[in-house]
Amino acid sequence: MNDIKQRFEKVNLQIRQAEVAAGRSNDSVQLLAVSKTKPAIDIARAYQMGQRHFAESYLQEALKKQQALAAFNITWHFIGPIQSNKTKAIATYFNWVHSVDRLKIAKRLSEQRPANLPALNICLQVNISGEASKAGVTLEQLPQLISEMRGLPNIQLRGVMAIPEPKTEYESQRQPFNQLYHAVKQLNMPELDTFSFGMTADLKAAIAEGSTIVRIGTALFGARMY
Ligand SMILES: *Cc1c(COP(=O)(O)O)cnc(C)c1O
Repeated sequence: MNDIKQRFEKVNLQIRQAEVAAGRSNDSVQLLAVSKTKPAIDIARAYQMGQRHFAESYLQEALKKQQALAAFNITWHFIGPIQSNKTKAIATYFNWVHSVDRLKIAKRLSEQRPANLPALNICLQVNISGEASKAGVTLEQLPQLISEMRGLPNIQLRGVMAIPEPKTEYESQRQPFNQLYHAVKQLNMPELDTFSFGMTADLKAAIAEGSTIVRIGTALFGARMY
């Protein structure tokens, strides 16, 4: 219990300090707690400390925890790879999806979003370091995908998500975030207000470069065991 409490306090403090260091306003960055592989009890503890936004990467695992935590007022984010046969459940049980990288998936999420729910918030995953093995559209493909998604009624495009190639040096961590941030700003679309980047190892660099949501797992819940 204390362990998770101390970890959350520490990460929240790091976020506030990084905001100050970057000259950004207090609470301009939201903490998204990445609870994949961790038990529902860990989520419940974090919830008791005021955390409301949680992210999961594996659908079946997420659905089980959502059932166990149905009494809690949690905002659920999906951040994992998306196969077509998973879109219906994702559209039904999540509030946000950060890992959309093709039109087919965006269309299905829009079609399958239940009519009684508000539009599903979407971030497009950008493969910012150009790694062949990683999911995501390239920066060059991004404007085309955005324009093709226009008019899908039940999703709301909010911004971009990125997982850059891991780098240990601070300046090297900042570079891809800087590039993505400015590429999106150049599109001149004020509705793209969300920059989902920054994980345990590069939180500070991400906030320095305009992140609005940091997705933190390890620093909050400890190392993951698969
Ligand atoms: C697991 C995961 C995270 C959290 O990573 P940590 O390094 O544990 O903070 C963030 N984003 C995505 C997409 C993930 O899959």
